[in-house]
Amino acid sequence: MDSKAQITHFDSAVRQDIGNGIDDFLTFLPGPSRIHVPGRDSSRCRILVTLLHGNEPSGIRALHTLLKECFFPAVDIYCYLMAIEAAELAPRFTFRQVPGKRDYNRCFLPPFDSDDQGPVCQQLLEEIQQLNPEAVVDMHNTSGEGPSFGVVTRYDARHDRIVSLFTDRCVVTELRLGALMETSTAQLPVVTVECGGAFEAAADRIALDGMTRYFGVEALFREEHQDLETEVFFHPMRVEMNQAEIIACAEHYVPGSDITLTRDIEHHNFGLVTPDTLLGWVAPGTLEKMAAFDTERTNHFRSLYREEEGGLYPRCNQKLFMITSNLAIARSDCLWYTALTD
Ligand SMILES: [Zn+2]
Repeated sequence: MDSKAQITHFDSAVRQDIGNGIDDFLTFLPGPSRIHVPGRDSSRCRILVTLLHGNEPSGIRALHTLLKECFFPAVDIYCYLMAIEAAELAPRFTFRQVPGKRDYNRCFLPPFDSDDQGPVCQQLLEEIQQLNPEAVVDMHNTSGEGPSFGVVTRYDARHDRIVSLFTDRCVVTELRLGALMETSTAQLPVVTVECGGAFEAAADRIALDGMTRYFGVEALFREEHQDLETEVFFHPMRVEMNQAEIIACAEHYVPGSDITLTRDIEHHNFGLVTPDTLLGWVAPGTLEKMAAFDTERTNHFRSLYREEEGGLYPRCNQKLFMITSNLAIARSDCLWYTALTD
């Protein structure tokens, strides 16, 4: 064990110490940690980052399974487990970040010295530069239920190829928030994989199957290995409450709310919604208060959505994703993202 300032380094002998479940694994880790697993070709390496958010355990679960199975990867693998402190807060795997501290996945921009999170993220970026991997995959879970997808900040064959090892949907975004994937370049692709909801068995399976392929494939970028044809969603807009305040989720309009989402709203994740799809109900005047922001923060809500007899409907075909019926998240973050489609 080689202890550095912020991220503790382990080699693959650590598999004897990590216990039989992810609770033991979490207890064992002293804080942000890196595990190095040597591969068949040690002249090359790949990086996996996970648990940047403490409430998103699919990545650590998959990694625990693979470490216990003594997997032997194609190339050297460096796995980073980041928000250990947040994940350990009781009840475990509930807190995205330690209350009062910054979200790790908003800290990959300078300055790096303003709090505890910045130096950890700076060290990770420096180690990525030193290791010069073929790719970096940052594995997450979504806050609502729903299918898996990749997110990239640039789109080319290499980014598409890596996403396709995990899932068949790829979102291309220009939003800049300080996330790890924003450091991506054409030479060194960094992609985010959203495995689906944190406590869905399907999400754990996506994580394990995808990680097995990512670690195991000999040539990462050779096309004949393309397993899945990806559906690509370019430049989604973020639908927010904006000046609207009161939100509900029910089978009918809840009096007093600005907007009531339909009970089954999450079922529309990545499905097509058309001008006939009822998304919820709105109070008079709500349409003027809500927003669908592009990256320039221009509001397109009125051109995307309409009201008919109190019902909220799309004006055109679109695909919604990261829909949440968690009202606290919907209010403080966003209701969903939307990408226009034919
Ligand atoms: Zn996350």
